[in-house]
Amino acid sequence: MTTEPTDDHGRTHRLELADSTIREWDATVLDASAEGIVLDRSAFYPGGGGQPPDHGVLLWGGVQTRILGVRKSDDLILIPAEGDPIPPVGTAVRGAIEDDRRSALMRTHSGLHLLSGVVFREYGCLVTGGNMEPLTARMDFNLPEVPEGFKERVAEACATEVAADRAIEVSNMSRADAFAIPDIIRTATNLLPPELEVVRIVDIVGLDTQADGGTHVASTRQIGGIEVMKVENKGKGFRRLRVRITDG
Ligand SMILES: [Zn+2]
Repeated sequence: MTTEPTDDHGRTHRLELADSTIREWDATVLDASAEGIVLDRSAFYPGGGGQPPDHGVLLWGGVQTRILGVRKSDDLILIPAEGDPIPPVGTAVRGAIEDDRRSALMRTHSGLHLLSGVVFREYGCLVTGGNMEPLTARMDFNLPEVPEGFKERVAEACATEVAADRAIEVSNMSRADAFAIPDIIRTATNLLPPELEVVRIVDIVGLDTQADGGTHVASTRQIGGIEVMKVENKGKGFRRLRVRITDG
């Protein structure tokens, strides 16, 4: 089932794909200007799948360059804060991710997978969109009516799945193997590019399996509480759930 990992983006090896717990690492600057910095190794999540990019710093020569985002082109381009010093090409830097933000985003992202797994299992409806900020998120479902007691039942099922402390496992699979999993087909509105031969899979064991490039916590208990704040009617067959991630 396992195939060659796809953890490189351009000239950058992406450390966070194999290990979402990395917060500090050493790297060398391959390209640098006020518009962006390219490293040989980076743990900055560049954004995607609804999860926003990381913030952090590069430490070098007694100064720091704040990183406020990432742009994906042929290379992975780290966006420096305006006016911060830019490390010249060849500089050895220490990269560091802003831990509070990333850890909150990991809990939130895993929480959304748990939520979509629960809503699919209980009501058979599909996710049509979503977005997240640290500890707050929305997810849209293709749900024609809001059934009696929907909000309460979803909240209760989420709490049960958090308490069950299910493992959250990340693996790489060939496209053919991935598409043989019924759950992947259900979420394939994510439109996996046809040239993608290896698919990264995030599996909440026994609950939800999705093709996904994000960073996740290791088990459902690490998410904390999932509070269903609001169910909104956004038009025909289109419901929006707003959730908040709490310390449980
Ligand atoms: Zn995801």
